Amino acid sequence: MLSYQQARELVTSSLRAVFCEPQSEAVPLGGALGRILAHDLLADRDYPPFDRAIRDGYAVRAADTGRSVVLECIGELKAGDTPAVSVAPGNCIQIMTGAALPGGADAVIMIEHTRRNGDRIELDRAIEPGQHVVRRGSEQAAHKTVLGKGTRFGFSEIAAAAQVGAAQVTLYQKRRIAILSTGDEVVDFAAAPGPFQIRNSNSASLAAQVQALHAEPVTLGNARDTYDDLRTKIAAGLESDALILSGGVSAGKYDLVEPVLREFGARFLFDAVAIRPGKPVVFGICRGKPVFGLPGNPVSTMVTFELFVRPAVEVLSGTEPGSLPLIEAALAVRLCEKPGLTHFLPARAEYGAHPMVRPVAWQGSGDIMAMTRANCLLVVPPDRENIEANERVQILPRGLW
Ligand code: AMP
Ligand code: MG
Repeated sequence: MLSYQQARELVTSSLRAVFCEPQSEAVPLGGALGRILAHDLLADRDYPPFDRAIRDGYAVRAADTGRSVVLECIGELKAGDTPAVSVAPGNCIQIMTGAALPGGADAVIMIEHTRRNGDRIELDRAIEPGQHVVRRGSEQAAHKTVLGKGTRFGFSEIAAAAQVGAAQVTLYQKRRIAILSTGDEVVDFAAAPGPFQIRNSNSASLAAQVQALHAEPVTLGNARDTYDDLRTKIAAGLESDALILSGGVSAGKYDLVEPVLREFGARFLFDAVAIRPGKPVVFGICRGKPVFGLPGNPVSTMVTFELFVRPAVEVLSGTEPGSLPLIEAALAVRLCEKPGLTHFLPARAEYGAHPMVRPVAWQGSGDIMAMTRANCLLVVPPDRENIEANERVQILPRGLW
C-alpha cells in the first residue's frame, strides 16, 4: 500500500501530466487575494527609483565624516522633494527618511549622531559610504520579473503589484470543483433528518476547503447508493474541472463509487493509502479529469482532502503545490498507536519557541466536534507503536481548515 507521501507524489505527477493552462481574466488588484497570477508581472521602473535615505539625518560625503567634525548644513530634503543642490566637501544637507540622496552625498548620518548649532552640524563619528542609503534598483531592477506566473497573491504580493502600478492583474480563472456526497442515510444539512439519518456535513466541509484554495465549489448534493443515481450525478460532476466524491469507497455492499467510476472509464492511480483516518481513499483520472473518492467519515474526508485533493487543486489552478508544512513539536503525553499506518490525530499544539502538542479526546473518524477543538494534526509514523512523553513528533498546523 502506498505511503501518504507516495500518494501525494502520484497525485501531483498525474495532475501535471493532464494539466492544461486555465483561462485567464483581468481582475482589479483588490480582488486578487488568494488568486493566481497568469503571467509574469514586470517592474515598471527601478526600485527604489532613486538612491533613498532610510533614516532621518544628514546627507554627507562619507569621506568627510569623523568624530567632532563640523559640517555646514546647506539645505533640507524631505520625501518627495527633487534634490536641487549637491553636497560639496565640508557640506551636508538635512534629509528625511524616504527622500532622494542629493548629488555629491554618498551616505546618511543619523540625526542621533549629530549636534546642531545653527547651520553647523557636529558629528560624533565617522560613517561608511552607502550607510543608511538604499541604492536605486537594488530591490528590483526595471523591466525584470517582480512576481512570476503561477504566484498566489498574499498581502505581500498585493503590495508588490500595487508598488509597480498593476491596478488590474491578469489571473487564472477559478477552477470549478464538483462535490458529490453519497449515502442513502445522508440528507441535506438544511433538512430535518429522520431518527437514523445524518445531515450532509461533508459537502459543506469540502466546499469550504475548495473555497479556501480560491477555487469554485460546484455542489451537486447527494447521490443515493444506487448505480443509477451515482451514474447520473457522476456524469454531471465530470462537467467540472475535477470531481470529489465522499463516501461509498469502503468494502461495504453499498459502496459503489469505484465500480461506477470504472464504467465511466476511470484509470485508478490508487484506491488505498496507508493512513488512518482515510485508508480507502481513491484517486483516478476519468475523461482527463481528476476524480477523488474520499472516505465518508467526516474526519477522513477532511484529512484526505488536505493530504491529496489540495495539491491536485493547486496544480489544476496553475500554481505549484506546496509541500506539507510539517513542524516539530514535543509530545505532551505518552501515545500508543497501532503500527502499520501513518496516523493523523486531531491535536492541540501550543506554538512558540518549543511547540508542545497533545491529542484531543476523540471518538474516531466520525467525530467532527473533535476537529473543532484541534489546531493541528499530530502525525504518528507507521513504524511507531509507543511514543513517550517529551519525544519529538511532527504536526501539521491547521490553516483554514
Ligand atoms: P461511507 O464511507 O459511505 O461508508 O461512510 C462512512 C461514515 O461516514 C458513515 O457513518 C456515514 O454515515 C458517514 N457519512 C457518509 N457521508 C457523509 C456525509 N456526506 N456527511 C456526513 N457523514 C457522512
Ligand atoms: Mg456510504
